[in-house]
Amino acid sequence: MNVLVLNSGSSSLKFQLIATDPDRIARDTDERLVRGEVEGIGGDTTCAIRKKDGLPESLKAPMKDLEAALEFVIGGIASERSGLQEVRGPADIHAVGHRVVHGGERFSESVVVSDEVLKGIEQCSDLAPLHNPENLKGILAVRKLLGEEVPQVAVFDTAFHHSLPERAYVYAIPYELYQRHRIRRYGFHGTSHRYVMHRYQVLGKVTTEKTHVVTLHLGNGCSVAAIRGGHPVDTSMGMTPLEGLVMGTRSGDVDPAIISVIGEKEGLSAREVDSLLNARSGLLGVSGTTNDMRGLQAEARDEGNKRARLAIDIFCYRARKYIGAYLACMGGADALVFTGGIGENSPEIRGQICTGMEWAGIALDAERNRKTVGKEGLISSDSSKLAVYAIPTDEELLIARDTVRCILGESHPS
Ligand code: ADP
Repeated sequence: MNVLVLNSGSSSLKFQLIATDPDRIARDTDERLVRGEVEGIGGDTTCAIRKKDGLPESLKAPMKDLEAALEFVIGGIASERSGLQEVRGPADIHAVGHRVVHGGERFSESVVVSDEVLKGIEQCSDLAPLHNPENLKGILAVRKLLGEEVPQVAVFDTAFHHSLPERAYVYAIPYELYQRHRIRRYGFHGTSHRYVMHRYQVLGKVTTEKTHVVTLHLGNGCSVAAIRGGHPVDTSMGMTPLEGLVMGTRSGDVDPAIISVIGEKEGLSAREVDSLLNARSGLLGVSGTTNDMRGLQAEARDEGNKRARLAIDIFCYRARKYIGAYLACMGGADALVFTGGIGENSPEIRGQICTGMEWAGIALDAERNRKTVGKEGLISSDSSKLAVYAIPTDEELLIARDTVRCILGESHPS
């Protein structure tokens, strides 16, 4: 089955075409046929695309909206001229899986899209006003371009965290606010946490019931999940992706009282402060130069930039604080897993986060840590009580697999 995986944004469209089916899933032999991204939709649009065994290509073409971008992508990957044996035309796209950001309290797992599901996603739009409407547009554009008979599946960023206990998801504010407006912790990056948990189970030969692990997704956005018995019992992102760890441009945890203080002192509206905390804070806000960890590391190392160093120190300190807190919440764990662009690729950051955690049974092996960049591997020492892994995430693969399982009516544990 060829599954088109889509992540639709306001000006971008990420896509992959993955050949998968139950047999391939069982044997872990799913095949990526195409991957790419359209950027600048509505303006100067470019499409970066890479077909299997091919070199990366970059194409420029005006695309006025998401539907036009999707038409361009489908034309490029599913036609005689695409050069792909597996997809000679749109009929060779058998199903479409969508990343949907917010599933609210309603969606606890991936679902086949129906009119009822579309309504449900729309009802969650007030919780993710920048994302859910775009995800919906993507689903409707596929319906129009490929026809209603092509099954579509929605895979929610929030769904994995449905198992959170009340004490972890209810904020200590008047309870009526939760009842009236559904203000609570939802958690995000669920597909990533679930994928690396699954890989940990495979690598460590661990059953779901015995999966007690803290997973750290450290990319531009960052979050931690405390997973006990294969289900999250806490996670650092909250009602929105702003809470928790320090991120590229997001502050993570702050004293909520500073929001009105910043507003008053700087003459900003609540919405403007929200934007300051989301887009001008985090690594960028502290360093004043960049949200990019690699850039910061170079500045701290080569130029002795003290604020770059401070930004990295706060980033690592906050991550360590969450690991300690989650170990306490869970009554201990058997493993830590690092993923995301930073977690997968930076031995220095992983090392700094884990420094001084021997008391908790966490000890990295310097050589294993150094060598494990952009690939799966154990990075803890043999004497470490907790196994520590670096595992590249693959949300698209999980979306493709969920799509197949949902269409076939199978349950999808991981
Ligand atoms: P996104 O959340 O947008 O998907 P990524 O998961 O790709 O982002 O993570 C991007 C972050 O990963 C950036 O801060 C980037 O600098 C960082 N990163 C990528 N490679 C490395 C590396 N080798 N060392 C340190 N940081 C890295």
